[in-house]
Amino acid sequence: MNDTALTRRRMLQVGGGGVAASLAVMAGGPVFAQPRGVSVEGQPMPEGVTLPETPPRPRRADSVGIAVVGLGDFALKQMMPRFDQAQRVHVAALVSGNRDKLRRVGDAYGVPPASRYTYDTFDQIAQNKGVDAVYIVLPSGLHAQWTERAFAAGKHVLCEKPMALNPAECERMIAASRRADRKLMIAYRVHFEPHNVRAMELMREGAVGDLRTLRSEQAYVFERTTPSENWRLNSALAGESPLEDLGIYGLQAALYLSGEIPESISAQSFRPAGDPRFSQIAASMSSQLRFPSGAIAQLATSYDSLGRNFVDARGTKGAILLDPATSYSGQTLKVESGEGKPPRMLTPGDPERQFAGELDHFANAIRDDSKIIVPGEMGLRDVRLINAINLSARERRTVRLNPDGTMRG
Ligand code: NDP
Repeated sequence: MNDTALTRRRMLQVGGGGVAASLAVMAGGPVFAQPRGVSVEGQPMPEGVTLPETPPRPRRADSVGIAVVGLGDFALKQMMPRFDQAQRVHVAALVSGNRDKLRRVGDAYGVPPASRYTYDTFDQIAQNKGVDAVYIVLPSGLHAQWTERAFAAGKHVLCEKPMALNPAECERMIAASRRADRKLMIAYRVHFEPHNVRAMELMREGAVGDLRTLRSEQAYVFERTTPSENWRLNSALAGESPLEDLGIYGLQAALYLSGEIPESISAQSFRPAGDPRFSQIAASMSSQLRFPSGAIAQLATSYDSLGRNFVDARGTKGAILLDPATSYSGQTLKVESGEGKPPRMLTPGDPERQFAGELDHFANAIRDDSKIIVPGEMGLRDVRLINAINLSARERRTVRLNPDGTMRG
């Protein structure tokens, strides 16, 4: 079967796992159990990808070599073109299930054929001294097992959000990082986006007084497709609702702006009957988080309502509005301080710096042993909260939480 034919197959194969497990056994290495109903498969080149026409710029001697795992939309359109804007990283290897993409992308980014891997040959990356780290940019349900494989190969890991689909997977990833004595960072790019960083500072400086309400929404209307055609609609790869992939930005904002962990959560989800897009996951999720200080956050996310992406934090003395808040570019930051003063629009920097900022933060942690501000523990905390929101929606009850985000009782 050629690669094009392969990519036209259903993305999910029930009871997968044979290839990865048997290869590991043949190699005498650890056996990685593939989650039930999930398989890794190559996909065609996403529409609208522009590959570089000139070779990457010369790199520093201490540049961190990164293997990109999964050549999909986000890797090819957003992250890989930004490697040249960062100071201390370069694309050292590629991992893909589509050989045509491996060749075309490898040629464009100057990755030699010996450093191009398929999912079946991935474990050989352990012998590639030019690869310091692995960037996991696969569907969310595959993050855990490929992170564990990367640590078993002795590499550092930058893993896309959400870290995984349940806390147990996150805990395994953290344990694997400790065992391998390698860094684990979650790719929360917004922590490096100047408007969001300034908003965090303003909140810490008390610019809104005591935070009372925070509202956030991330939404768009998903194309007409099905769970077998698009992993984002498939519960084994995406979770229970748009919260895991999209609404996680609003949840994160509620945490980094309030500086608190909620003590209780109540949530509701909606799945329209008869819509083939939503046979496995909910179309919309709305949740209310109450923080120990008394602040209340209202978070909404949907794959079935018109595009929206904002965060509005209001307190006793002022308000902060990010709109758009967490997109790739175009952020605005408005600060209101009441008392008849006009609102101020702040322009703290170019939003597109977030990508290079994230990559260099990871590289610095590896080379200088500096602290990671978005570690695996933060990913675990967020997945615990997502879990609690899902449970609250499923069981239609308020869920109470401990300070570390685990459920009480
Ligand atoms: P895509 O569907 O565009 O790409 C995923 C890639 O994963 C595919 O192209 C394919 O790569 C590989 N893959 C392996 N197995 C499968 C499978 N069973 N089904 C589908 N793809 C498979 O997704 P995105 O690039 O949009 O998202 C990837 C990850 O990045 C997700 O975790 C997502 O949450 C995260 N993301 C993060 C963003 C951010 O702003 N930080 C924004 C968007 C996404 P190949 O063909 O090379 O094998």
